Amino acid sequence: MDAAKTVLITGGTGFIGSHTAVELMAAGYETVIVDNLCNSDKSVIEGIEKIAGRKVDFVEGDTCDIEFMRDVFRTYEFDSVIHFAAHKAVGESVADPLKYYRNNLVSFMNIVELMKENGRSNVLFSSSATVYGEAETLPVTEETPRQPATSPYGNTKQISEDILRDCCRAYEGLYGIALRYFNPIGAHPSALIGELPIGVPNNLVPYITQTAAGIRKELSIFGNDYDTPDGTCLRDYIDVVDLAKAHVAAVDRMTQGRMDRKYEIYNIGTGRPVSVLELVQRFSKVNGIELPYRFVARRAGDTPAVWADASLANEVLGWKAGRDLDDTLRASWLWQQRLM
Ligand code: NAD
Ligand code: UDP
Repeated sequence: MDAAKTVLITGGTGFIGSHTAVELMAAGYETVIVDNLCNSDKSVIEGIEKIAGRKVDFVEGDTCDIEFMRDVFRTYEFDSVIHFAAHKAVGESVADPLKYYRNNLVSFMNIVELMKENGRSNVLFSSSATVYGEAETLPVTEETPRQPATSPYGNTKQISEDILRDCCRAYEGLYGIALRYFNPIGAHPSALIGELPIGVPNNLVPYITQTAAGIRKELSIFGNDYDTPDGTCLRDYIDVVDLAKAHVAAVDRMTQGRMDRKYEIYNIGTGRPVSVLELVQRFSKVNGIELPYRFVARRAGDTPAVWADASLANEVLGWKAGRDLDDTLRASWLWQQRLM
């Protein structure tokens, strides 16, 4: 294995990790996936291999277990890691903060520690638009001040960003990039991989597709009295394949020694605000399905509007979201049908 062309992907059987593995392999990288399957399924590996047309190294285990991870670092040669492994349900993090602080922070500190210990260079971290909270100006740029986190989950993203910044500053040879994702949706157009929500989905698109499939009776739209054009919240929905490609661009930048600073941050979004109602209507239209929905009260903690200024990623990473929203919504539906 060529270390410069090999990437360790923690959480690689998850939604974003699996799509990223596919895109990295298409770009000529080898991948090693570590996942404890707490929110994904081993069968995802087959989907990745089918699309990529080659084998993937998969190691089942917990990134919080430093001895297990030390062994992974001993076994495989890689210069770069993408750290996806984390719990991500905002509501659950409020109910059980320790579960989130332990999993999300211990696992990330282990990774950074082992990178330092083994003289490996590049850490790519999955951050989130949640760090901006209710921003004062829109769209948000990377310079827009972060707001105090409104959930333990959001707090783990802010703390992890700070850990990476400080460690890159302190340790020679360590470089970091945090990608702040906006709202990832969609699935691979092959419908061989996609999102696997366990239980009742919290996120909008899985709830839409499960309603379309008849698994849920109707969609509740949380709030239609916001100060937005149609009263529903505005978000920046980014296709998961586009998002995956942003990781390839960031890994290229790191492995090719093109970083201007030791720690960099990029917004990964489309720059296009879309309302909840508009998304629901477009899903119905492109897939030819009536979607029962009703307006209900606002959901606690929701930000009325947030979307990205992604020009830094466009200019510096040479990455741009390209996929048409209608195609993304078709892929989401195709994937849901595949699950049934
Ligand atoms: P996901 O749950 O589908 O994937 C995460 C994967 O990590 C799962 O396969 C899970 O089994 C694994 N995992 C969790 N803890 C682990 C541990 N201790 N050891 C080994 N594996 C572990 O989630 P996703 O949507 O693919 O998110 C990936 C990353 O992106 C997460 O860090 C998430 O916080 C971040 N993110 C996601 C979104 C989103 O809306 N999906 C938005 C912003 C940021
Ligand atoms: N939403 C909704 N009904 C649902 C799930 C989500 O109306 O069943 C709305 C939610 O209020 C927000 C948007 O859809 O305005 C996106 O929510 P999601 O949980 O997918 O992502 P978030 O932006 O909260 O990270």
